[in-house]
Amino acid sequence: MKYVKHLITAACAALIVTTGVLQAGDVKPGDKGQQGEKHEKQDKDKKGDAKEAKGDKQDDRAIIHSQRWSYPLDTCPVSGEKLEAKPTEFVVNGRMVRTCCGDCKAQVMKDPSEVFKKLDAAVIAAQKSTYPMKTCAISGKELDDKAIDYVFGTRLVRLENREAVAMFMKDPAAAMAKVDEAYIKAQLASYPLKKCVVGGEELGGMGEPVNKLYGTTLVRFCCAGCIKSFEKEPTKYLKEIAEARKTPPSKS
Ligand SMILES: [Zn+2]
Ligand SMILES: [Zn+2]
Repeated sequence: MKYVKHLITAACAALIVTTGVLQAGDVKPGDKGQQGEKHEKQDKDKKGDAKEAKGDKQDDRAIIHSQRWSYPLDTCPVSGEKLEAKPTEFVVNGRMVRTCCGDCKAQVMKDPSEVFKKLDAAVIAAQKSTYPMKTCAISGKELDDKAIDYVFGTRLVRLENREAVAMFMKDPAAAMAKVDEAYIKAQLASYPLKKCVVGGEELGGMGEPVNKLYGTTLVRFCCAGCIKSFEKEPTKYLKEIAEARKTPPSKS
């Protein structure tokens, strides 16, 4: 915990210079969000807006589905409490957040800027060391020490400079596809299983294996039909892959 706090503090300093400033447009300015601040009750769940809320909920679900794989915290970013099996999960300004309870959620909804800083720092800490590209995902230029560690949702993307960040925001999906491709390429050679983690079929036995990235982790399937089963119990299968990576491959 101390280690994490230390990391966050260090990374926050860097973020103020880079990401924090660049995301200023997304978040309400202000100096609130201290941890000591009183939880406030919000009774926003008016029944009248049910129709509108339905569409929002679908969007939120899609965002959570795509961002949860690399969500970096197992603690509530407001209270610091360890998250339990069913945390409060929601979307603010296009980003998923998990808190320990509804009171903490209300606080984040009011002003997410502090929590976003914590998430940014945690994403960078988790992903920078294995980031697969040495070049800017927008300009293609070599990244140097002025490169910006930009956090998009729960993913790190490294960009040459501010112009590249502005370009990135115009079409993040295209640039993220490049980053994804680089992750897959980097992990293919060392992928630890010869069989589909779901069905146990030999990879390549049913035609080209399907390579899919969950967060920053490559998973290989014998066929697209196995993806659904995987997503029902992802924790179990991701653990199997992680464990197989720890043990050197056997020749059997
Ligand atoms: Zn809470
Ligand atoms: Zn399969």
